[in-house]
Amino acid sequence: MKIERVRAIPMSDPVPSQRQHRTDLGTKVKSDATLILVETDRGLTGIGAALGSPPVVAAIVEHELGPEVVGEDPLFSERIYEKMYNGSRAEPALERGVPQPEVSRRSGVVMEAIAGIDIAIWDVKAQALGIPVYQALGAVRRVVRGYASGGWASGDEAEAELGGYAAKGFSAVKMRVVGRDGFSIEKCVRRVQAARRGIGARVELMVDAHGSLEVPVAIQLARALEPYDIAWFEEPVSPENHRGQAEVRRATTIPIASGEREFTRYGFQSLLHHDALDIAQPDVARAGGFTEIRRIAALTSARDIRLAPHAWGSGILFAASIHVAMAAANCHILEVSQGYMPMMWELFNEPFDIRPDGTVHAPDRPGLGYTLRADALERFKYVEGPEYTF
Ligand SMILES: [Mg+2]
Repeated sequence: MKIERVRAIPMSDPVPSQRQHRTDLGTKVKSDATLILVETDRGLTGIGAALGSPPVVAAIVEHELGPEVVGEDPLFSERIYEKMYNGSRAEPALERGVPQPEVSRRSGVVMEAIAGIDIAIWDVKAQALGIPVYQALGAVRRVVRGYASGGWASGDEAEAELGGYAAKGFSAVKMRVVGRDGFSIEKCVRRVQAARRGIGARVELMVDAHGSLEVPVAIQLARALEPYDIAWFEEPVSPENHRGQAEVRRATTIPIASGEREFTRYGFQSLLHHDALDIAQPDVARAGGFTEIRRIAALTSARDIRLAPHAWGSGILFAASIHVAMAAANCHILEVSQGYMPMMWELFNEPFDIRPDGTVHAPDRPGLGYTLRADALERFKYVEGPEYTF
C-alpha cells in the first residue's frame, strides 16, 4: 500500500454569542481545526486533525510534509513519523539510530501538523488491518471513565453548572479557576465551594488554572483549596516553568497535572526530570500523534505517572483520544468537553458512545471508526480570524 496524496482542509466552528464563554484566554468566538486526509492507492483514506492556525498548518502540509510522505507505506508509521521529524536528515538519523530533527519541526505548529498526519496514517493503517486503531496500538481496555470538562461560571452559579455535569452521570468534573475579569484567591475558593455543593462529596473535582499563575499565588491557591478534596490542580503555572511547577507540587497535597501544551517525549521528559507532575496530559494532536504519545505513555509509566489525555477540539481529536485511552495502560480518565462544540459532536455519522454513567466506550469499527458527515466540509468551512477576542 502506498500513500498517493495528503490533503489539509482548514475548518472552523463559530460559537453563537450567547454561548461564548469568557476565560483568561479571552472570549471564545470559534474553534478551528485542520482536517488531514491521507489517500492511498488501495482506495482507503485516513482522516486526522491538527491543532494550530489552519492556513499555516495547511501550507506546511501542502508544501513540506505532504510531499515527503507521498510514496510511503502507511504500515511503516514509525518510519513516516521519523521522516517528518528529521526532515532532510531522516535517512542518516534512522541509519545511526540517533534523532537529527529539523529545527522547526521539534515543536510548535509544525509538530502539530506532523501529529495531524500521524493520526491519519494510523487511521488508514488500522483500516487496512481491519481493526480499530486502539487494537492496532495494543488494546488494554474497551471502556474508560470520562470526566466533564467545563466550569466557567464566575460566581455561585458554579453550583448549578458543575452540579449539572454530575447530574449527567459524570463521576468526575473539572472547572476553570481563573477568569479574565479579575483573579482573587477568595473568589476562587468561593466558586470551588459552590461547585462542591453542586456535585456532593462523592464526585471528583479538578481545577485548571490554564498555566496563568505565578508560583507563590499558585501555592497559596492550592493550600486554600486543599479542604475541598481536589483530585488534581491542572497547569498551576506557565508551561515553560517546569521548575516552578515542581515547587508548587512540593508545597501542596493536591496532585499536579499538566502537559496539554507540551510537544513530544522531550517536553514530558523535562517535566519528569523536575518532578513537576503527578498526572500527564498529552494532547495527541499536539504532542506528536499516536506514534509519539505512545512513547510519552511509556515514559511516564516508568514513574507510575497516570495519563489523562487532553482532548479539546474537533471530533477527530476526540476520536483519536479515545483510542489513546484504550491503548495506554496508565490512562485512567479521558476529558469530555462541555463547551459549545458542534465540530466535536456533529462531525461524524456515528455518535460517540458515552453512557449515562459517564464512561466512554471504544468503537469496534476499523481505523478511527468514524466517518465524516456529507455536509461536514460545507458546515465547518474555515472562517478567517482568531479563535479568541479580548
Ligand atoms: Mg487544561
